[in-house]
Amino acid sequence: MQSQRIAVLGATGSIGASALDICRRHPDTLRVALLSAGTRIQELADLCLEFRPRFAHIADPYLLSALQQALDHHGLSSTVAVAGDADLCSLVASDHCDTVVAAIVGAAGLNSTLAAARAGKRLLLANKESLVVAGELLMQAARQGGATIVPIDSEHNAVFQCLASCNAPDQVAKVTLTASGGPFRGRTKADLATITPEQAVKHPKWSMGRKISVDSATLMNKGLEVIEAHHLFALPPAQIDVLVHPQSLVHSLVEFVDGSTMAQLGLPDMRTALAVGFAWPSRVASGVGGLDLLAQGGQLTFEPPDLDTFTCLAHAFAALRAGGTAPTILNAANEVAVDAFLNGRLSFPGIAAVVGDTLEALDSTPAEHIEHLLETDRQARLIATRRVELTAA
Ligand code: NAD
Ligand code: MG
Repeated sequence: MQSQRIAVLGATGSIGASALDICRRHPDTLRVALLSAGTRIQELADLCLEFRPRFAHIADPYLLSALQQALDHHGLSSTVAVAGDADLCSLVASDHCDTVVAAIVGAAGLNSTLAAARAGKRLLLANKESLVVAGELLMQAARQGGATIVPIDSEHNAVFQCLASCNAPDQVAKVTLTASGGPFRGRTKADLATITPEQAVKHPKWSMGRKISVDSATLMNKGLEVIEAHHLFALPPAQIDVLVHPQSLVHSLVEFVDGSTMAQLGLPDMRTALAVGFAWPSRVASGVGGLDLLAQGGQLTFEPPDLDTFTCLAHAFAALRAGGTAPTILNAANEVAVDAFLNGRLSFPGIAAVVGDTLEALDSTPAEHIEHLLETDRQARLIATRRVELTAA
């Protein structure tokens, strides 16, 4: 593995913790240059004490002096405190780092992810929402900037690994993304009406942040991932399938034109994908053990997703087929609805309803430039917020 200076965006989150765990295991090659967080100053300062980055970044500019105080309290005079999206974008694009772990949750990660792509960094891309909001522009920025994108989503990381066995994208017949089915697999529509946030964030196989856990429970996560795969691997919607695989050991499958299907298997632990991201095309220890299929129950089962009950997945397929700004609208409405659900202002079935209503209320237009997408994102949030209020009234 090449020696790298690393920026971890979303350092206090679930992916951030897994990324830093890999850095901890390879201190001579993986040097942390920048740690960034949304609001959790104390956790950020504690991470700075351990990893001694050149820069500590907090999203909210009002928290800058509190971050400075926390760094001073730890005696960290060599770490510079910075704040705000513009400073983050400049640092991510600068010579201070070679590798960027994009692990901010939601469209809030779009600008910094784009900055890393434009600047030609090795981009470990966990922030799937940025691909959903602005996939074409992001992939174009990465091509023009010469960035290497390694997807940090277990499914896409699996596809990325499988594709290494083939040198021509047109020899891929189909990609099948696997889905655990989430905590409510097998439930009926009526069962979903009374689901609480606590139940929704308890994922059977993965330990993740709250927003993606709810997305997994509604199957919106798989919908976002279908759109993500479309952009990452330049695949038309018809060549992307979803199969529910409750054991979460087969992370995805790629079928080639000769009838071969390649799959990547492993325990459900994001450190494997992150190790691939840091070391590719080499391999390094990640702290994740090997797979013992018998110890894991000796069974790999598959079933189709229930699109009638989990309508978020159907909405995502429809948004991808509609193209243009439809995925941007889908993502914005979903972020608003999930936040409302987590804060007790919307029921679980309300999430799909708000997303569906917002998609209906706003026409999709061609996704021409970033300002247009950001304006669409803003409008969709306004409409979705109004729908949430109406539902609550
Ligand atoms: P998380 O909620 O645990 O962490 C989110 C991080 O983003 C935190 O460090 C938080 O401080 C930061 N953040 C939040 N809002 C911010 C803002 N406005 N500006 C700057 N920083 C902000 O989330 P997570 O589970 O680590 O997921 C992060 C991303 O990775 C998401 O896009 C998610 O879909 C994707 N992902 C996660 C997993 C997983 O296993 N957790 C798997 C695949 C993909
Ligand atoms: Mg995933």
